[in-house]
Amino acid sequence: MVAREGVGVRELASRVDDDGTASGGGGGGASNDVETNDDEDDDDDDANIDFAHAPVVFVGYPHVALLCPRCRDVMLDPVCADDGSSYCRGCAPAPPAAGAPAYARNVEIEDAIVSSAVICRRGLVLKRNAHGAGEWCWNAEGCGEAVRLSMRDVHDRECQFVSRRCPFPCASMTIAQSHNLVPGKDFCGECVPKYLYISHQQSCAWQPTTCEVKGCAARVPLCKAPHHAQTCPEAVIACANGCGWSGARKSLAEHRATTCAREYIKCGFINLEDEDELGCLFGCERAGINAHRMDCDYRPYTCPSCDTKVNALRAARHEAVCAEARRPCPKCHAFVRSKILHAHLDNFCVGASKKCPFASFGCLESGTTEELVVHQRDDVPRHLRLVVRALDEERERGTKKTQVIERLEASIEELNAECERLAREANDRVRFVEEKAIEQVQRVQSRLEMTTEAFDAHVAAQTAEIARLKIDLANAVDADAQLTKVTSAVSHEDANALVASIESHAMTCTAQIMSLRADIDACDVKWNADVEQLSTRDEDTVAACRKEIDSAIRERRESDTSMNRLDELAAEIRDVQRTLNIKLMELSQKQNELNEHWRIANQNPQFVLTTRIAPSLTGSEDDVENQERTYVDVVKPRRKLKTLAKPLASDENVSNSGDGVTPLRRRKFSASLRSARDRVPDESESTSSQAAVLSNEVLATTGAAPREEVADDELDL
Ligand SMILES: [Zn+2]
Ligand SMILES: [Zn+2]
Ligand SMILES: [Zn+2]
Ligand SMILES: [Zn+2]
Ligand SMILES: [Zn+2]
Ligand SMILES: [Zn+2]
Ligand SMILES: [Zn+2]
Ligand SMILES: [Zn+2]
Repeated sequence: MVAREGVGVRELASRVDDDGTASGGGGGGASNDVETNDDEDDDDDDANIDFAHAPVVFVGYPHVALLCPRCRDVMLDPVCADDGSSYCRGCAPAPPAAGAPAYARNVEIEDAIVSSAVICRRGLVLKRNAHGAGEWCWNAEGCGEAVRLSMRDVHDRECQFVSRRCPFPCASMTIAQSHNLVPGKDFCGECVPKYLYISHQQSCAWQPTTCEVKGCAARVPLCKAPHHAQTCPEAVIACANGCGWSGARKSLAEHRATTCAREYIKCGFINLEDEDELGCLFGCERAGINAHRMDCDYRPYTCPSCDTKVNALRAARHEAVCAEARRPCPKCHAFVRSKILHAHLDNFCVGASKKCPFASFGCLESGTTEELVVHQRDDVPRHLRLVVRALDEERERGTKKTQVIERLEASIEELNAECERLAREANDRVRFVEEKAIEQVQRVQSRLEMTTEAFDAHVAAQTAEIARLKIDLANAVDADAQLTKVTSAVSHEDANALVASIESHAMTCTAQIMSLRADIDACDVKWNADVEQLSTRDEDTVAACRKEIDSAIRERRESDTSMNRLDELAAEIRDVQRTLNIKLMELSQKQNELNEHWRIANQNPQFVLTTRIAPSLTGSEDDVENQERTYVDVVKPRRKLKTLAKPLASDENVSNSGDGVTPLRRRKFSASLRSARDRVPDESESTSSQAAVLSNEVLATTGAAPREEVADDELDL
């Protein structure tokens, strides 16, 4: 069974079988396809079924003109299509193009559909099939009325088969629900169709009734009335104990608790000595309890002396020990409270024997109070004697005490004097010690300050040292890490290749050094030859100079001015000589350096090479760089040699370009000049023109001296 539902201008639905034959009997009769509702239960009532979604069931087969040619169902929102036929709006072929107006409604068919007869919604019932899905079926006990489709909603409002829950005993279902009351337990809640509503209410077991007991007037549901009758508080009942009392049920509890003579009650006296202990456990009807309580061991008893409450069975024991109880004195038989009996016997009891008041003076008499009164009256002389003797003894003791006191006072004075002396000594001692202590403290303070300063300095030094050590450590760690990195980076083969290349470099270097050594030897030979040649030339020049000077000296004698000029010349020559000496010294020093360097280079070339290359083997990451360094290290000595040779050559040039006098020649010349000057002062006459001529001649002589020059190429390797 297929139920169809749609939403359009009007709600339309129809049921069509799969074979195309429509079903539905006329006049409200049950269709052979619609199942009858056999067992209607509470779950299928109006409260649980959503009749608004019930399908439309037509009475009889709808006219064929009302069926859609496409879906073969009663048309839903019928429209006139372009082909002239009518369809449901959803079934119309080729729906209107975009922008074109929608198909027009087919009002004729629509009117025919809504005026067709359909079955009232309450003629159907929703049942669950085997799969749990809802299925609308024919309900034989439902409303069988047929109405026009357009009038179906109007009929729904007055349909006698609309059912609702009976709200008894509450007037409002809302109140019942708000109290969370359970239908059938707390109220009726039965679903009743409208046409049965009044008859149900008249026979409903939950209809409210009024209790008929006088003074009660409680409203209770009919089904709860028997229960209320058993518990109605106003109902008159008789006492169950059989005491003959009768009255309202609400008064029974009070009657039994207070007045019922047949009620079983307990004695209830407690143990006053210890309330945790059990008291009297006796129990009987109320009529006999008073007799028991008069005689109960646990009845309370109040002590007349101290007002303490005790149980009756302990009253005698309490009386025996009660401190407030009065008992007869054993001596005078007067009644005295227990707690003051001793004081009574000592002070007030007339029957007790006492000592004579003069016992402290030595009277040994004793007796009752009356006897002592007689004794004191009769024995006055004896008492006086005793007193006098006691006074004498006392006076004697006083004298002895005075003597002792005097002795003690004397010794106290001595002690005071001793104390003062000791105090003085102590003060002196304290002052001395204080001075010493202050001195000591000052010394210690100064020492402490010095120590503190030294310590501060030491700490600062230590801190600096620690910082330096930290940096060293960091560097060491860094270097270690780098070394590890390099060691891991450079493979064994790479290292071997590097060593091989270095060895070949070393061989090349050795060859170069051999050739360098040969060149140096040649230079050395040439140097010696040059020096020898220069010295011979110097001797010649000096001899010539001496002749010139001799002639100059002769001319000098002729003029004083020429002598002065000579002095100036001598000074100039001394300056030049000094400069030359310095330069010569530098030259020889440089030659020594050159020789030393050359010696080292020749002595152990392999060692120099190794020590220079070794760091590059471990400190560098790149083989190419290593090789470059190796090359630099090998080439360096050669460059150094060049740089050392150049100043040598330039010095030669400088000395030659100056006055052109070689050191040896200069030395000899200056010596002869000095000897000549020593002789000059003997002469007195000279002329300035002669001095000028002499000066020019000297300059000419020195300027004409041969120039020595060591070729740059010879030293440049
Ligand atoms: Zn109806
Ligand atoms: Zn009811
Ligand atoms: Zn009642
Ligand atoms: Zn009673
Ligand atoms: Zn008792
Ligand atoms: Zn007492
Ligand atoms: Zn007494
Ligand atoms: Zn006496």
